[in-house]
Amino acid sequence: MRRRPRRHRLGWATAGAHPPAPGRIMHAEIAGAGFAGLAAAIALHQRGWSVRVHEKEAELRAFGAGIFIWENGQRVLQALGAYEDVARGAHQAPAYETRRNGRCVSYQEINGDNPFLLQTMTRQHLYSAIIAAARRRGIEILTRSEAVGARPEGVLELAGGRRLEADLVIAADGVRSAVRDSLGRPCARHKYQDGIVRVLVDRAPFQGGSWEHVIDFWAFEPRTLRILYAPCEAGRLYFAMMAPREDKEAATLPIKPEVWASVFPMLEPAIRTIGSRGRYDIYETTRLESWSAGRVAIVGDAAHALPPTLAQGACLAMMNALSLAVLVTGAADVPAALQHWEAQERPLTDHTQARSAELARTRALGAGMQWDDVGLVAARHIPFGTRPEEFVRRPPGA
Ligand SMILES: Cc1cc2nc3c(=O)[nH]c(=O)nc-3n(C[C@H](O)[C@H](O)[C@H](O)COP(=O)(O)OP(=O)(O)OC[C@H]3O[C@@H](n4cnc5c(N)ncnc54)[C@H](O)[C@@H]3O)c2cc1C
Repeated sequence: MRRRPRRHRLGWATAGAHPPAPGRIMHAEIAGAGFAGLAAAIALHQRGWSVRVHEKEAELRAFGAGIFIWENGQRVLQALGAYEDVARGAHQAPAYETRRNGRCVSYQEINGDNPFLLQTMTRQHLYSAIIAAARRRGIEILTRSEAVGARPEGVLELAGGRRLEADLVIAADGVRSAVRDSLGRPCARHKYQDGIVRVLVDRAPFQGGSWEHVIDFWAFEPRTLRILYAPCEAGRLYFAMMAPREDKEAATLPIKPEVWASVFPMLEPAIRTIGSRGRYDIYETTRLESWSAGRVAIVGDAAHALPPTLAQGACLAMMNALSLAVLVTGAADVPAALQHWEAQERPLTDHTQARSAELARTRALGAGMQWDDVGLVAARHIPFGTRPEEFVRRPPGA
């Protein structure tokens, strides 16, 4: 793993570095009820904090797409009390294969007794399980509550002018984080050459045999296109449809079914049902000089968005949220604890981000899955704050 020298900004650590009075309950204000914000809220609450989550949207729901959760993410979900609900229903494919221009170029058995634990599900399935875990703890989640900024001394600023003081403020408001940007710290963003349409379709035409697998369909002729096929729970099927941004016929919404069906005729029955649905995103990376400023921690995509080539964005977001809660609990100096957290977690995140970026740049997944010791470091990592002995593999449907 590539390691780089750590730079500590001790000046920030002094902002609001006053220890709590003994016995006082510590309080966190969290911007963003996504995977990172909710994981942080639950993990802090488990450790005796009072927490409040602010979500700018009117409803708590995930958009219509699927998600892959590797073993490290599954372990965090177990620590958060959400794993049983996730595993019940999520698809555990028996194999993961890559087909290039119709030919199988890589094949790996997964799940069961294999060392590759990877569940696929709709985002709503994952989100509902985490929300349920938060609700069971009585965590306060405010919708239509938009955060616009934060102050290093421990203040979250809301649209409308309210200022909320806290021992810890968490910016978990995603890749376009307003809270992060309000801090004025350097943030490098990079966009890659491909864009991706994500959509859920009916799985009915694709049953049994290799249709139970996750299949990464690639084509480089007559044009570069990819459909990542992933069965999910309850008869849903996730398509992640990648195309070069410059391919204006393919990298667009609504999708043009004839373009995709001509390259992937075996998937045509589903492609024809997509209509105007789907969400389009461009692969991108966010990189910060520091993940904290005083009492403000920046977590998840707000700190380290990465291309989805290793399916680690949400897994890392939840992992880092959990370790943040562990390290900040009981700390006399919150800003120093946040620097410690970054020093501990950042090398693995940076490594995974760099490898994901390389795979996005080179489109190397088209030659087969890249599940080597470089690519799978995060997936195999035992997250800080989890108990390895408590993790039990769930048989499909259990
Ligand atoms: C194409 C694609 C496929 C992916 N596939 C996978 C995968 O298979 N596996 C995986 O682990 N990861 C995957 N990821 C990455 C994953 O989606 C993200 O890493 C993850 O969603 C990050 O979670 P987050 O909570 O940091 O941010 P988000 O999920 O973006 O959540 C941020 C939340 O904050 C809210 N918010 C935003 N602004 C404000 C504000 N100002 N005030 C209050 N609330 C606000 C938003 O509404 C949202 O609810 C993928 C990403 C992409 C682009």
